[in-house]
Amino acid sequence: MEAQNDLDKPNNTALSSPYDVTDDVAGLKTLMVNLFFIGIPGQGNPWVLVDAGLPGYAGQIKKKAEALFGPGAKPDAIVLTHGHFDHTGALKSLLKEWSEVPVYAHSLEVPYLTGKSSYPPPDPAIGGGFISYSSFIFPIGPDDFGNRVRAIPTGGQISELPGWQVIHTPGHAPGHISLFRQNDRTLIAGDAFITTNQNSAISVATQREEFHGPPAYFTCDWNAARQSVQTLADLNPLAVGTGHGVSVRGYELQIKLNHLADNFEEQSIPSEGRYVKQAAITDQTGIVDMPTPTSYNVSRAVGWGLLMGTLLYAFWPASQDERDH
Ligand SMILES: [Zn+2]
Ligand SMILES: [Zn+2]
Repeated sequence: MEAQNDLDKPNNTALSSPYDVTDDVAGLKTLMVNLFFIGIPGQGNPWVLVDAGLPGYAGQIKKKAEALFGPGAKPDAIVLTHGHFDHTGALKSLLKEWSEVPVYAHSLEVPYLTGKSSYPPPDPAIGGGFISYSSFIFPIGPDDFGNRVRAIPTGGQISELPGWQVIHTPGHAPGHISLFRQNDRTLIAGDAFITTNQNSAISVATQREEFHGPPAYFTCDWNAARQSVQTLADLNPLAVGTGHGVSVRGYELQIKLNHLADNFEEQSIPSEGRYVKQAAITDQTGIVDMPTPTSYNVSRAVGWGLLMGTLLYAFWPASQDERDH
């Protein structure tokens, strides 16, 4: 539908992929994780990068940035919806190239990005799918991006991102944020909710559109996750880009997001798992206390995890240069 009006667009690269959200919010999928470029396409225009995808994708991110904003394009800032490895994978390489670009994250996320704390470990027994079973091999940090990391000001405004409001949407990660632009009701939800079934290898491979709560294996506070989805549904967004899955717009978005919020308990919260009955307790220093791991299905999970983890690693298209670091 949007493609009919190509001449009105500042640049034909906008809305050319199912991950683009609006004319000035372009999306890029890195294997199965999305990141976004906020800015009106055009040589030298200001822009902000939201998230940094999987390791090995720095080259593709720079290429897309240059296609949108011209040769040598460098963002005014990088904003992280949260610091999980699949959203910060290319960050180190990008920061090397893009000197002095600040990295904004919620203050509750800062300890995991500055070497102070690891994340609460993933729960491989949850979710029932191959990615959950392999999740125990996922790195949980601590990562250290040093003095480039800045806490987002408490009012939720980032000076490099005028018109956008930062909304704290915890649950999947303690300092998880979403970004909302009131004037056209555009939302970048991160992993607060997603638009594919991250627990199904087939859905991930085909990117079939399905609304889901946050990826279960990392979610460490389900009550907060439920409230966060309600907060985002209450904003009545007209277009959304999420961390996993395609962008969705209009009436379809409103129906499906409200349905997700109304049925979150039954549809998104797993019946058993480490963080289901008790959340991980965290503060500005990182982990304070954690529930003990559930023994449910752990041995099966480990078996599957070893198999799938090996496959995942073997087919991961990380560039050799990043593996060599
Ligand atoms: Zn995540
Ligand atoms: Zn994610």
